[in-house]
Amino acid sequence: MQTVSGLPEAFSPESYDMIVVGAGYAGAVCARRLAETAGFRVAVLERRDHIAGNAFDFVNDEGILVHRYGPHIYHTYNEDVHGFLSRFTKWTDYQHRVLADIDGTLMPVPFNHQSLLLAFGETRGEELYRKLISTFGADKKVPIMELRKKNDPDLIEVADYVYKNVFLFYTMKQWGQTPDEIDPSITGRVPIYIGDDDRYFPQAPFQGMPRHGYTALFENLLDHDRIDVFLNVDAREIFEITETTVKVLGRVYGGEIVYTGPLDELFGLDLGALPYRTLDMRFETLDIDRFQPVATVNYTTSEDFTRITEFKNMTGQIVPDKTTIMREYPGPYAAGTGQTPYYAIIDSKNRELYEQYAERVQNLTNFHPVGRLAEYRYYDMDAVTRSALDLSDEIIAYHA
Ligand code: FAD
Ligand code: UDP
Repeated sequence: MQTVSGLPEAFSPESYDMIVVGAGYAGAVCARRLAETAGFRVAVLERRDHIAGNAFDFVNDEGILVHRYGPHIYHTYNEDVHGFLSRFTKWTDYQHRVLADIDGTLMPVPFNHQSLLLAFGETRGEELYRKLISTFGADKKVPIMELRKKNDPDLIEVADYVYKNVFLFYTMKQWGQTPDEIDPSITGRVPIYIGDDDRYFPQAPFQGMPRHGYTALFENLLDHDRIDVFLNVDAREIFEITETTVKVLGRVYGGEIVYTGPLDELFGLDLGALPYRTLDMRFETLDIDRFQPVATVNYTTSEDFTRITEFKNMTGQIVPDKTTIMREYPGPYAAGTGQTPYYAIIDSKNRELYEQYAERVQNLTNFHPVGRLAEYRYYDMDAVTRSALDLSDEIIAYHA
């Protein structure tokens, strides 16, 4: 692999079988798969000054490994994805646990058996727990919006408590909308868990953190002699999209293009910008060994920020008497201001706008949008990896 900053004078698109835009999971996985399985020569263009997309981590001035774009915890149910990524890193056996600060009391989230006892007291909590088991079964996950549809008074009591104390205020901060107003799949990511498992991803068979960090994982992923990485290169400056062709540096490009950036940006937002939520992430390093009992505490009834992450608690890094924490302040995203578009706001209107942009590239047979930006989706790392592997297999099959 060659990694350089900027596009050299001698850069010739024709000397590559594929150009990948973006060095996050979507782009890096496709680059690796095509380079090693189909023998493609691949150029990866990344407009940031680093690889790894939003999973990028780095050691800060105080010597602590932190995640620049928010806490990333790897988990998957997919054996193929896990097998693929495990070629590029060893994992720690970290199991993510989150506590919600509910009026000063810390309770496990997803809301579980233990949370019920803390919220309702031992006797009532146990009664309500039995009711949940008799209704849904043990070790089941129930989205809050499902629970709220039930008519039983006990279930209404639980649903009202959890809706008000776990979801309402946090969701208002995160999305500027109530849980009823946003797509139910979003709150469904954190279902009530009828059981004692207090992990954030109960039942996920593969969980952990890359032992040497995500950036190191990406260095290994992109470390292939048929892959070149060009940092600080914005594809928009060298791409030109017409109805039937993509020109790169003014010449029609006949190779494959994997595009993992936002589609609206490619067209100068001419139909309007696809809406996102952004986050202002404020890091602070404290001269103490440990700030909070788990890696992430969600502030579900107070504060302007949504959560505090303490990185050492998730990476397992040992640094005595120092710890870095980070608070996330959500807000609306404005395109073209240098903010990072973190969360696509998924609703039918925005989906329609996305489809209008997507239609414009539909007839470009060598142009493949993939990933959280290019598909305008709420995507976990493992799901993006799955999509990138599937797309790679399609491209390989086409060339076979
Ligand atoms: P990205 O990582 O965004 O990569 C796209 C890349 O393309 C970027 O580096 C960008 O700079 C580059 N690019 C865009 N346009 C251009 C252009 N014109 N020219 C050149 N380069 C360009 N997932 C989990 O599984 N677990 C978690 O715990 C988790 N935590 C998260 C926390 C937060 C706060 C957020 C926002 C997301 C989290 N995710 C998590 C999701 C995870 O970040 C994504 O699944 C993953 O980053 C998607 O990879 P991607 O390649 O699609 O996009
Ligand atoms: N959520 C909430 N309270 C919590 C945790 C989550 O209201 O304590 C809601 C909120 O709307 C959030 C969504 O559930 O956006 C998904 O949460 P998740 O932790 O999966 O979000 P991410 O880690 O992707 O930011």
